[in-house]
Amino acid sequence: MAAVNGDEAPVFVAEDNVKERCWDQREVLPGEPLCVICGRYGEYICDRTDDDICSLECKQTLLSRIDNSQLSVDLPPPIRLPATDECFYVRDADDKSESQSLTNGQTELLRRKLDIFVKGDIVPAPILSFSSCDLPQKLLHNIEAAGYEMPTPVQMQAIPAALMGKSLLVSADTGSGKTASFLVPIVSFCSNFTRQQFSNLKNPLAMVLTPTRELCIQVEEQAKLLGKGLPFKTALVVGGDAMARQLHRIQQGVELIVGTPGRLIDLLTKHDIELDGISIIVLDEVDCMLQRGFREQVMQIFRALSQPQVLMYSATIPKEVEKMASVLSKDVTVISVGNPNKPNRAVKQLAIWVESKQKKQKLFDILMSKQHFMPPVVVFVGSRLGADLLSKAITITTKVKALSIHGEKSMKERREILRSFLVGEVPVIVATGVLGRGVVLLGVRQVIIFDMPNSIKEYVHQIGRASRLGEEGTAIVFVNEENKKMFPELVEFLKSSGAAIPRELVNSRYTVGSLSGGKGQKKRKHAY
Ligand code: AMP
Repeated sequence: MAAVNGDEAPVFVAEDNVKERCWDQREVLPGEPLCVICGRYGEYICDRTDDDICSLECKQTLLSRIDNSQLSVDLPPPIRLPATDECFYVRDADDKSESQSLTNGQTELLRRKLDIFVKGDIVPAPILSFSSCDLPQKLLHNIEAAGYEMPTPVQMQAIPAALMGKSLLVSADTGSGKTASFLVPIVSFCSNFTRQQFSNLKNPLAMVLTPTRELCIQVEEQAKLLGKGLPFKTALVVGGDAMARQLHRIQQGVELIVGTPGRLIDLLTKHDIELDGISIIVLDEVDCMLQRGFREQVMQIFRALSQPQVLMYSATIPKEVEKMASVLSKDVTVISVGNPNKPNRAVKQLAIWVESKQKKQKLFDILMSKQHFMPPVVVFVGSRLGADLLSKAITITTKVKALSIHGEKSMKERREILRSFLVGEVPVIVATGVLGRGVVLLGVRQVIIFDMPNSIKEYVHQIGRASRLGEEGTAIVFVNEENKKMFPELVEFLKSSGAAIPRELVNSRYTVGSLSGGKGQKKRKHAY
């Protein structure tokens, strides 16, 4: 189906049943081959490279990468590219024109080194320093003051693309610097926007939606830091805080609203707020935001906007979300960095088979063991009541102070609990999913999954709390037959990260197939 000859660019002719686009392909099942480009089911074998691929689209990407890397063997000396896969960053790149001066081959090489995959029309080259993309001086100063010496890989690619006005769907590991990668372009856009043109209008220019209050608070804090000293005001619109105050702030005139969908709709339906000045909207944790429950609210908010640039982010982006993203905005550029939809490689997973009745005792043993307890620790549980009861039981039995945090606590309580945890007054926090996504828990290097979450996606987010910017952490995971639905995926995750798999999990009939499969197991048609 693909005619590739000599030096000519590959020409693809679709044949029956051969998937053309990568999102036509399904997710990979445990044991099946992975597409080397996008990680979906590698149904075909590339006739030129013998790699597993899912579709014609990914084959084309694969071949263009190879062709470009062959082109870039002789890099001209002035551009310093990272030397190894471990070395993500390039120092001393002050030249503002550096990214424009990368050749296509160099751009491809850089992307390969950084594990960046892009899909879309005219995607700019990754930047090598913040100063290379014409940001306001004050913003550059704030970035430096925040201690961000160099952009992280997701920032290298997403910032220039967002600054070009592109709508993005970005997946990158938890804790990889995603928040700044959308806030930097937002602050830059807002502070360059000249209000005088519309003198009496003080409508917001950008909006960030996230699924939890905690995440909103954190995003707003980071936005304030980056926008310090610039014409850049923010408003937090979340439940638990008085609506009147939030409304008043917006009416005073703000550039950025950070909120949860529910409270925003509340505000929109009860008060007269103009959102049609919003030029950039971010959906953080987009997979969660487009799930039933949130989706209708998000769509309602979109109806109040007039075709903004849409920036969508998550560590986990399933195929359906990719499809929905193209409904929210035309020409979405897809960027994925690292290992999309996979657990953060910096987190060591330690799965332990524990029957439900023994879980509490096992947890107490860990918390009382000098060798295993590495505070501060987050313990994830499945229910609010469970969080309250378990935190009390920990404090009483182990004498280690523990508090619970969940959606039923007031905003004030949640803030105070997080504060005392982060300053080290309380070494253990027992949380429901409210802390699972996005929230940076500085200093936390150990999480304990006491109750397995309902989906492997949530699992990825929860264990991700044990690492920040690639620092190593540990996730202790309690598993038993009650989690049988997740066995195949869990086994696959443990296997791919080189973690030990408990004997009971290996022998379980619900795991069957996931351990024996592998490259080439699945009967495939033939090479394409
Ligand atoms: P995030 O993935 O957005 O939750 O960010 C994880 C952590 O990395 C946060 O504590 C950020 O303040 C920090 N961070 C983000 N970008 C950088 C950078 N370029 N250099 C150093 N730290 C960063």
